[in-house]
Amino acid sequence: MEICTVGGYNEVGKNMTAIKMGDEVIIIDMGFYLPAVIDLGEEEDHDVSFEELKRAGAFPDDSLIKDWKDKVKAIVIGHCHLDHIGAVPYLADKYKCPVYGTPFTIEVLKSICNDEKIKLKNDLRKINPNSKLKLTNKITLELIGITHSTLQSSLILLGSDEGKVLYCNDFKFDNTPVLGKKPNYERLRKLSKENVVALISESLYAHREGKTYSEKIARELLKDVMLNTNSKGKAMFVTTFASHLERIYSAIEFAKKLNRKVLFLGRSMAKYIKAAEAVGIVNFSKDGIIAGYSKQVKKELEKVEKNRGKYVVICTGSQGEPNSVLDKILRKRLPFKFTEKDNVIFSCRTIPDPINIANREVLEKKLKKYKARIFTDVHASGHASREDLRDLIEMVKPKNVIPSHGDNVKLNALGEIAEECGYKMGSTLHIMHNGKRVKL
Ligand SMILES: [Zn+2]
Ligand SMILES: [Zn+2]
Repeated sequence: MEICTVGGYNEVGKNMTAIKMGDEVIIIDMGFYLPAVIDLGEEEDHDVSFEELKRAGAFPDDSLIKDWKDKVKAIVIGHCHLDHIGAVPYLADKYKCPVYGTPFTIEVLKSICNDEKIKLKNDLRKINPNSKLKLTNKITLELIGITHSTLQSSLILLGSDEGKVLYCNDFKFDNTPVLGKKPNYERLRKLSKENVVALISESLYAHREGKTYSEKIARELLKDVMLNTNSKGKAMFVTTFASHLERIYSAIEFAKKLNRKVLFLGRSMAKYIKAAEAVGIVNFSKDGIIAGYSKQVKKELEKVEKNRGKYVVICTGSQGEPNSVLDKILRKRLPFKFTEKDNVIFSCRTIPDPINIANREVLEKKLKKYKARIFTDVHASGHASREDLRDLIEMVKPKNVIPSHGDNVKLNALGEIAEECGYKMGSTLHIMHNGKRVKL
């Protein structure tokens, strides 16, 4: 088999990998380079054009597999995050093949296409986590259920008579998830006897010692902030990643304990919640009002302005993104004004990109001017740390390890763990870059 690492091997983002088994090629993930997209203003009620995105460097360079174009039989997406799915609406059309993902992932994809008024010719096919199907006469696809920071995330297992490839972007080993199932360890352990030729794994936090904390820990942190601080009569805003439905679920529960009504505000907030409701994995509509577009958001915020102690607002803006709800409030484009001791809870971390860091700084500065109470890093990550990655390698016992989802520093950090597990650089451990190919 031959693997081409198309995108996400020089940077964090625009993930795309192509795997050639026999004379057939399967593409895994087609993601955005997020800093480029965020800079264009994700939440704006206007459509960013293909050309704008391309100029900003948002897409993986799929011309790197031009010679394989007619051999591509399927595109498989592991989960709904934009750094894995974002480029599908713009690039998938070039390939005459179906796109596969879990029901929630496909639903998010459909809703992005709708929003951007893009009609994909590709057939969009849903496959449940922990199930298997034939992509072609020679290649099988199996999705292995895993935990991450959004629902229905899966590890992707491709198999042919040449052996198997396991793709682990993105994951954490969470043994006490708040929604959804635990990782399918049983299946992962069995893989050690099934000729896994290559393990392609995220390296995002390979440098971070220890084990990533469970979502249950983040839930406790959020609980403490929401229930055990004095917020009486004051506004309470919780912001997190719109796709983080587990976190939103916890925020709803604590809002109920406070006897406050829940408002979900922001375009992407509405998008992910509605997609999850469409496939029946959450039912947040019964708990609050979902307002996506500016007009609706305005209407809801007018209510909060009049009665600030009665609501919990769950909204976009966790990264300080231009045109998110928090950003618009602070630029006086929405009818709400923070006052002293209003609460703003950042249930997230700032993605360490210079644009994000700057955006968040500006946002927090403005909040401080209004003397709002700010709670940051009320969060647990969705990505595997060093010891999780070691467990993964030892569980699956692949023949080769290919670190992904990072720049050189991150790829090498996972490389170091693999070396500690006995893999040899250049023979069984491969540090790849965008556009490189390896035959295994
Ligand atoms: Zn990712
Ligand atoms: Zn992810």
